[in-house]
Amino acid sequence: MTCIFCQILARELPGEIVYEDEFLAVIKDISPEAPVHLLIIPKRHFDSVNSLDEETSQIGGKMLLAAKKMAEAQGIQSGYKILINTGRDVGQDIRHLHMHLMGGWGRKPFRR
Ligand code: 5GP
Ligand code: ZN
Repeated sequence: MTCIFCQILARELPGEIVYEDEFLAVIKDISPEAPVHLLIIPKRHFDSVNSLDEETSQIGGKMLLAAKKMAEAQGIQSGYKILINTGRDVGQDIRHLHMHLMGGWGRKPFRR
């Protein structure tokens, strides 16, 4: 059974792919909750963080680094949020591991 994100990455379903390399792809969220809202998706299918182990944990680092690079590319490196919903109790909707990258709201003062 293929999932919706596997199908988008395989170009079997439409999706705005903004970056792609050997390990992962980045698409625009179809229903953005921030001015910049991207999804960082490993090409290999994992249901969630719970599917990672010692051997596959490096994909987490690659996703994190992709988030940093995409934040730079989108001009939001001065402030962004990254989020990985994991499991049905927090409403993980798509069961293919993905990281949300959100930002672009504008500058807020640091609290001292
Ligand atoms: P989750 O709750 O699983 O972390 O979030 C899934 C995200 O995927 C949601 O923000 C939702 O808007 C997005 N999404 C769901 N279906 C599609 C789709 O077909 N294409 C794209 N680009 N994003 C989707
Ligand atoms: Zn998948």
